[in-house]
Amino acid sequence: MSASLSANAQNHAHKKVLKLMGSRFEITAVSDDEALAWQSIDACIEEITRIEKVISSWDERSQTAAINRNAGIKSVIVDPELFNLIVRAKKISNLTDGAFDVSYASVDKIWKFDGSMQGLPSAEEVAASVAKIDYHNIILNAEDHSVFLKEKGMKIGFGAIGKGYAANKGREIMKAMGITSGIVNASGDLLTWGKEADGSEWSIGIADPKNKRSVMAWLAVGEMAVVTSGNYEKFIEVDGKRYSHIIDPRTGYPVQGLKSVTIICPDAELSDALATSVFVLGKEKGMALINQLNGIECFLVDDKDELSYSKNLKLNYYKNGVAPSTDATQVNIGHEAN
Ligand code: ADP
Ligand code: MG
Repeated sequence: MSASLSANAQNHAHKKVLKLMGSRFEITAVSDDEALAWQSIDACIEEITRIEKVISSWDERSQTAAINRNAGIKSVIVDPELFNLIVRAKKISNLTDGAFDVSYASVDKIWKFDGSMQGLPSAEEVAASVAKIDYHNIILNAEDHSVFLKEKGMKIGFGAIGKGYAANKGREIMKAMGITSGIVNASGDLLTWGKEADGSEWSIGIADPKNKRSVMAWLAVGEMAVVTSGNYEKFIEVDGKRYSHIIDPRTGYPVQGLKSVTIICPDAELSDALATSVFVLGKEKGMALINQLNGIECFLVDDKDELSYSKNLKLNYYKNGVAPSTDATQVNIGHEAN
């Protein structure tokens, strides 16, 4: 684990950069109390590391791995924390009609995004690749908080929600320690609270999808999560059609039409899950869903580089990408894959 430290004595923002959950995390605490700031950052790192051990599906010792090993065999009693995360994930599956599904983890990776694909897989292959995905078959028992995956070969994974959950919990710990302002930035999944050291709101720069170095708009936020899904550089072209690396778990086909989706709401877990959901749902259905939800905003970029915004999104535009403040944090649309 490598970490780089930086402290800016003038504005009392203290920051650590390190790798957690396979992603680059930047954790910032704004405080006059330097010792407390560093302590809170360390506590946040410890919390995220703890969560990773519970939800990681590739760590054989995790409770999640135990659930997967026992698919089609028996139910597994897990900590209420993991149980409740799965309960919430299933709620998002219901909300999105299965566009979001943590049992996506069982997918057969028949789509290769490294240029090695010669043609499209057959319809049978595609159907078989997603045959084990169905959140209805994640059986939850609230009495003993046990989880049972009904079908052999089923798997759950938290790739599209775990980083957001961990960021939420990290922020909670820092707040409880008395840190009133900060940012947790998990590879572009941003979670802010409080205000910048100079008393202004956090400025989140949204990169122009056509030119990642230029900012096309700014969001002024307090307690908020800004999460982007989709990597617009990662797609394949087969028979003249573009396919993204995100697959619709209901059909087995890669989603078409969108380059990236950004969700803005106070809860990082929800933002994380909804970003993937809207990507799968596509422009019309995705935007319709977000416009029905109070306090959740969205903007997306389609594959023609056209932008769409949810009804109540308030962005500040700076046409030539002029930054309102130099220490603003930038979100890249289609940020690098982990
Ligand atoms: P990023 O890596 O940019 O944060 P996402 O938040 O969209 O991307 O999450 C990608 C992860 O989500 C992958 O680990 C993948 O296994 C998982 N995933 C992909 N599609 C779905 C889906 N429809 N429902 C739930 N999880 C998914
Ligand atoms: Mg996500």
